[in-house]
Amino acid sequence: MVEIRDVYKRFGDLEVLKGINLTVNRGKIISIIGPSGSGKSTLLRSVNHLEVIEKGSIFLEGVQVNRPDLKGLAFERHINHIRQNMGMVFQHFNLFPHLSTIDNVTLAPRKLKGMEAKAAREWGMELLNRVGLAEKADVFPNWLSGGQKQRVAIARALAMKPKVMLFDEATSALDPELVEEVNLVMRSLAEEHMTMLIVTHEMGFARDVSDWAMFMDGGVVVEECAPQKLFSNPDQERTRNFLKKHL
Ligand code: ATP
Ligand code: MG
Repeated sequence: MVEIRDVYKRFGDLEVLKGINLTVNRGKIISIIGPSGSGKSTLLRSVNHLEVIEKGSIFLEGVQVNRPDLKGLAFERHINHIRQNMGMVFQHFNLFPHLSTIDNVTLAPRKLKGMEAKAAREWGMELLNRVGLAEKADVFPNWLSGGQKQRVAIARALAMKPKVMLFDEATSALDPELVEEVNLVMRSLAEEHMTMLIVTHEMGFARDVSDWAMFMDGGVVVEECAPQKLFSNPDQERTRNFLKKHL
């Protein structure tokens, strides 16, 4: 489904990703953990080409995402098509403040798929229902709590029926009491076998929901294995030291 092959990325002199490999099969959930600055966000952003990688390749369902051979408009078209198949949820919700909740959710299908207003509203309501926010359809983001905003952001990311969802610390900007409502939505996606790549600081959640867990440090994958093993009996000293501080 998603294949990351030997990916390198640097910002100036700083090498941030140093040969990352990862395969995410359909319906699987991978959690990525690691200290601040280890390159987790850069990796996730590279998957949908928000960061341009220097070397290596990334595939979504066999289609190469980075295409150094494509230029200009041809690349724009290519990457827009790819991005329609990936939903991304960030730490800071990035909702459009001037659009109501339902318009935030349905903007992409209306603009990109030409969905009619009535069909878009029905689809938007279905998505809002799914994240428990149908009654907030016509409210503006400023009126929502952080947890509600993040659930809208998830609904919006789902609106194009993505093949994979990318979560970058979706709950770390939330007050503790709001974390669980977002986690519940993510768990429900897991139960429906959504393919997900999750960067998180929440070790318990990662252990519970994921099929595979990866510990990154200094731009390399230090260790990857089943979450039960990674969180209770990791092989690497660096992983143990990190977990000591974060469990
Ligand atoms: P955190 O847990 O704090 O979110 P992270 O593992 O997500 O950390 P990244 O955001 O991927 O880390 O950053 C990796 C390194 O790359 C950091 O040293 C960061 O300062 C640097 N970096 C990230 N984005 C840029 C950028 N646009 N320009 C320059 N340096 C950057
Ligand atoms: Mg980050």
